[in-house]
Amino acid sequence: MHHRFSRREFLVAGGMAAAVSISRDALATPPANVVLPEVSSQASDKAAQHIVDMHVHFDEKNPNFVGDLVKVCERLNMTACVLTPFSNRKVIADAAKQYPARIVPFGFVDLDAPDVVKQVEELHTLNYRGLGELEFVKKPFTDPSYMPVYELANRYGWVVLFHTGIVLRKKFDEPEDVASYRMRAFHLEEIARRFPKITVLGAHCGNPEYEWAAEVARWNPNVFFDLSGSTLLKMHARLSEFRNIFWWSSTGWGSKAPEGDPGAFVKLVFGSDTGLDGIEGVLNQYRALFEACDVPANTQRLILGGTLAKILGLPE
Ligand SMILES: [Zn+2]
Repeated sequence: MHHRFSRREFLVAGGMAAAVSISRDALATPPANVVLPEVSSQASDKAAQHIVDMHVHFDEKNPNFVGDLVKVCERLNMTACVLTPFSNRKVIADAAKQYPARIVPFGFVDLDAPDVVKQVEELHTLNYRGLGELEFVKKPFTDPSYMPVYELANRYGWVVLFHTGIVLRKKFDEPEDVASYRMRAFHLEEIARRFPKITVLGAHCGNPEYEWAAEVARWNPNVFFDLSGSTLLKMHARLSEFRNIFWWSSTGWGSKAPEGDPGAFVKLVFGSDTGLDGIEGVLNQYRALFEACDVPANTQRLILGGTLAKILGLPE
């Protein structure tokens, strides 16, 4: 395998096996020995579909990250929302100006930083379109101390990507002030309702609390989730179970949805959360889910790019 390890990943030496990369959510990138199902029926319209990937972390370790990313975007007809550490903000602001159809800048800020509000204001002046991935928080996402950031995001009409669910442990033998419960999917409900101009995106669909994630998305038109991380790998032999979680298609129990789509799966968006060489693999995982759950073609189009293209004002 020739997976490039990004800053956010770390290495697990796997005995005689090749190295396996693990993302925050554990196993976002399918290991090389996992055979992903081929979904050949989708192959013909791959070229036509405009993909919007909500979950591309800026890779500080790759000096040619922008060039490499643009190549992948051209090949997949994709726009990448690049989750950019504040210290790298200028590089991606410039890249977004140069490649507006391929790169959308998102600010990866620390909600507990004392100057986070100032950082967010500066990102706005640099034409950033949102924040994310917000994670490793010291308090639950709904803590009052985070409200000034959400108020700004609401004023800007931004898209904000929150990590939800289980989170990786960076160091196994040192104390860490990190806990998944602070990032449970149901916290997004309060943020979405108090700040209706924010498009609230939850990464990883609350893994493993998919039901909470889906129900919060069902009642809140401004909430969507991506299925990046280990979920589609963990569930690969039982993907049809997602029909029980996204259950309300055509029942009248949904809320306002993009293009009035009555399908429950329209509450998903595409996010890869992987190295640049893993994005296509995650696309195939999404397509396997579509097949297992009979997701209609138009809903697939909205999930893979249509919904976010509209929200971000991108050409479809
Ligand atoms: Zn995450």
